[in-house]
Formats: sequence, structure tokens, C-alpha cells
Amino acid sequence: MSNLLIIEDDELLRDGLCAQLAQAGYSVTAAADGEAAQTLLETQRFDGVVLDLGLPKISGMELLRRVRKRLPALPVLILTARDGVNDRVQGLNAGADDYLTKPFDMAELQARLGALLRRARLPAFGGSLELASSHSEPPLRVDAHLPQAWLGDEALELTQREWALLSLLVTHAGRVVSREDVLESWQSEPGEPGALASNALEVYIHRLRRKLVDSGLNIRNVRGLGYMLETHSD
Ligand code: CA
Repeated sequence: MSNLLIIEDDELLRDGLCAQLAQAGYSVTAAADGEAAQTLLETQRFDGVVLDLGLPKISGMELLRRVRKRLPALPVLILTARDGVNDRVQGLNAGADDYLTKPFDMAELQARLGALLRRARLPAFGGSLELASSHSEPPLRVDAHLPQAWLGDEALELTQREWALLSLLVTHAGRVVSREDVLESWQSEPGEPGALASNALEVYIHRLRRKLVDSGLNIRNVRGLGYMLETHSD
């Protein structure tokens, strides 16, 4: 069960969120101001956070900045006022993963939250998968526990980033993985500015393509969307 922290000063909304999310199967903790939220974040482990930006004591934006320093990979969905375009941009820049504008639809909140939590879990999908493009080519096998990948009987030598990229592509084979998803899976590595990682992505895609050249699998560049692992088509 995922542990969620709901940070919202509006009592009615907070109670509503907690009740609905608990009903949806989440374990829910609530905080009514930034200070209480910070204490909770320092003392308990959460899988995801719903954060209202307009908060007493410590603002949502400030809290988000502090959270990001300590917990770079924690999924955070921010709630912003309807006309708060600046808030939204600032919030995303400060490291929020997604946002919803008030008033929002509870079903949409649950869908977005679910997607965030799934994405956060992806790099450690925790299983073993095999992808075969045809009988003539060796299958690609990945084992998240080790973590290690093989092409047929041959182990692939992968850096940590290549591994993160490959496991994302494999778990989404046939579907598009966005650049953001990849960068997010890399985010846990300290000391690397986002822009550098973004440029590096092309390099890693290129390297991974070369390592998969005998697999019959291809990493397709889907313009404007991201990358997709697929079987070669002629
Ligand atoms: Ca508020």
C-alpha cells in the first residue's frame, strides 16, 4: 500500500481528499500547514505527496524546494489556484512532478497520482523480463534484481544510467517513454544539472542502440514524444 502525505490547509478539501484516497486504497497522512508537513517528511517515509501551494507557516513552494534537496525522487503533485499560471510554472521548476488546478475532479487526481506513483516505481520494476523479436535473433533478458541484462547468453555491460534507460524502455516496450520519464529515473543521481542530463540522454540512447544492434530490437525516436522500444521493421 502506498503511503501518501496530503498537505492542504483547507479543512474541507483536506478531509475530502483523505477520505477519497483512503477509500481508493492508499494509506493517508494529512498536514494542515507547511511546518507540520516538513516534520512529517523528516520523520516518516512517503511514496507520494499532494501539496497545496498556498499554505500557512511554510509556503508550498518553499516546502517543495526543501523536499527536493533531501528527497529528489519523491513524487509530488501540486494543487494550484485556477489563475496561478506563475505558480504552476514555478512549481514545476521547483521540482513538482505534476499539477492540478483547483477546483479539480477527484477521479482525475487519482489517475494522475496513480500514474506518478507507477512511474516512480519503474526503475526498480523488480522482476525479470524477456523480449524476443524473432526466432533468429537472441532474446533480450533483463533481471531487475541483479540488475543485469543479457542478449541470448551474453551479458550486456551497462552503466547505471544505461540500465535505468533500458529497464524503462523494456517495461514500456511498444509504448513511448518520454524524455521526462528517463530524466526522472536518473534524478536520484546527485550533482548533475538537468540540462546536462537532457543532452546526455541522446548519447545514452545512441550507446544503447549499439549494444542492442544484434537483438532485432530498435529504439525508435518518436518525434516530440520520446523513445520507444520496438522490433525492427523494414
Ligand atoms: Ca491553501
